[in-house]
Amino acid sequence: MTVDHPTPPPTLLLLATGGTIAGRGVTRTSLNSYTAGAMSGSELLQELPQLQGVAQLQVEQLANLDSADLQFQHWKRLVTRIREAFAESCELAGVVITHGTNTLEETAWLLELLIDDPRPVVLVGAMRPATALSADGPLNLFQALQVAGSPQARGHGVLVVMDGQIHGARAVTKVATQGVGAFQSPDLGPLGWVDDSGVHLPEASRFRSVPFATLALPAQWPEVAILYGCVNPSLALVSSLSHAGVKGVVWTGTGAGQLSSGEREAIKTWPGVLPLMLRASRCGRGPVHPCPLQDELGLLPAGTLNPQKARILLLLALIAGMERAELSALLASMPMIGG
Ligand code: ASP
Repeated sequence: MTVDHPTPPPTLLLLATGGTIAGRGVTRTSLNSYTAGAMSGSELLQELPQLQGVAQLQVEQLANLDSADLQFQHWKRLVTRIREAFAESCELAGVVITHGTNTLEETAWLLELLIDDPRPVVLVGAMRPATALSADGPLNLFQALQVAGSPQARGHGVLVVMDGQIHGARAVTKVATQGVGAFQSPDLGPLGWVDDSGVHLPEASRFRSVPFATLALPAQWPEVAILYGCVNPSLALVSSLSHAGVKGVVWTGTGAGQLSSGEREAIKTWPGVLPLMLRASRCGRGPVHPCPLQDELGLLPAGTLNPQKARILLLLALIAGMERAELSALLASMPMIGG
């Protein structure tokens, strides 16, 4: 006679970094005035007895802050810890990161470019503080853990779970200042969804390229700025950046990444070596394609990357010592990104 042993719940690592999901307000109706990162990851889990039997959790507090205050050293710590945790334990099924929603998409994209493992890394936040009436954090966290422990999520890279939707790190972005459905993946839509019937994701493609999988992150990161296009833009900003010696610039152009003639002239008179430059769009949807008028100035089109994600690609390219031609080849090789 054979005895059936129940399958043990997946082992997951929860890395807590703060945000509104760990926020505390004075009253249950305080939705805007509250302290982000006021509760620990362990406290958040105490609100979720439903996890009993669903996942075996190890919790670590990497930071506890508003995500607008994240620094490169936090990113370095996060990347190091995830790489280490995956290397140390084959029992580990996945990682969940609680994070402020304001810069969540940046951390997700950074990890997508640096973490090479089929096991899921899932970021989650909340739009209402933990103390609010109808706080969205507990269900979001439960669902993020559900996704991270599911075999369906393997091979999809870094995921973001918010409001029952599962997004990919490349396309996801915060599109609203309030409301629980504040995340979207423009042009592509979410990859799938999660509810009490399970995790619904298409099968992951076999090949996932992680361009900076072996890149070691330094203590000191290069300075990369974002400029924002508008009518009669301030050229004083361009001149300050050139004098500060920034190593990279993302130009958030109007329309399909268009710079004004004044900005193009300012690039022509940039003193010294030109920084590595990408051209993104302020539109929020659609690609930025090559354009001879701007390409000849040294600008590379950022394809479908939004400006904040284009900046992360620039940061890592600079850390890796890439030059313009190498970055151009990398962009062209990235599915759904290349301009
Ligand atoms: N201020 C918060 C943050 O840490 C916002 C949030 O988490 O929703 O980004």
